[in-house]
Amino acid sequence: MTGIMAGNEFDIIQHYFSFSSPDENLLVAVGDDAAVIQPENNEQLVMATDTLVAGVHFPESTSPEDIAYKSIAVNLSDLAAMGATPRWVLLSLTVPNNNTDWLQRFAQSFEQTCAQFAVKLIGGDTTRGPLSVTVQATGVVAADHSLRRNNAKAGDHIMVTGTLGDAALALELLETNRQHPYLLQRLNRPQPRLEFAKALNGHCRCAIDVSDGLIADLSHITEMSGCGAELYLEAIPLSEAYRNCCEANTVVEKLTKALTGGDDYELCITVSSEKIQYVTKIAAQLDVNCVVLGKITTEPGIRCIDENGQLVAISATGYKHF
Ligand code: ADP
Ligand code: MG
Repeated sequence: MTGIMAGNEFDIIQHYFSFSSPDENLLVAVGDDAAVIQPENNEQLVMATDTLVAGVHFPESTSPEDIAYKSIAVNLSDLAAMGATPRWVLLSLTVPNNNTDWLQRFAQSFEQTCAQFAVKLIGGDTTRGPLSVTVQATGVVAADHSLRRNNAKAGDHIMVTGTLGDAALALELLETNRQHPYLLQRLNRPQPRLEFAKALNGHCRCAIDVSDGLIADLSHITEMSGCGAELYLEAIPLSEAYRNCCEANTVVEKLTKALTGGDDYELCITVSSEKIQYVTKIAAQLDVNCVVLGKITTEPGIRCIDENGQLVAISATGYKHF
């Protein structure tokens, strides 16, 4: 773009976003019209993009450090769900002004986060407007080894990493000017399950990252696989902070929030009976909490079942923009 940042757009790019150096797979980085990548012969490229809009995807009060981290992490969560190893990111940044303090803090965190996940910033766009951050991430996967949504089979166990509902609860607390450090951390600093997803290679049938609430995301698996699911409510993993801070009148209400709130960035997988022991072992080795909370069924739809085997109606589905 030209003209949008009135003369200093190039200074901003040069000063804050030109920290990646070329290597044998990155032939041209920031500074030309576009980046040039040379993937290895046996690799396939896996790409994802996600936009974070101020006031929609994060509260206006979110720190530039957290915005930078999260803009990368949410994309890497998508790559994890495909079993890919992230390598390169593009950053399209729209900022209301050239506030150097904000830019400095954002760029520093962006660079740190790139280093943390071993990805390189290879290009992007910089414009003026209401604050919005779009990251595009590209990863690699060994040819034909990506994890899909459409391969679940009746009888598969449904597993999920971590705990659910923490981020949604953090956001709810913020709306009434309350905060809880652990829950806030879960909202602002999601951990893409890259290592675990990679270790699952060939050992799970399906994977999806939970970004819009477990029920909504699991339904993508069941619909694309032509099956349904049963969820065991007593097995839904909740953090201690969530249990203590979630104000709900009933257990079902409490679980509904955890099952339909957004921003978890945990991994939901389906695993055949033959592989369940192996996957459980891998999770323990990597110190990832991963529990079985349901089963894939031939009957379509998602049914929630309480500890007495009774069907429970869970009303709301996940977050939808439209
Ligand atoms: P053009 O005018 O050709 O669209 P730009 O001025 O948008 O080019 O970008 C110039 C170079 O800077 C390109 O390599 C582009 O990828 C890179 N770039 C622009 N904005 C960013 C950013 N926020 N982060 C990283 N690279 C950026
Ligand atoms: Mg150009």
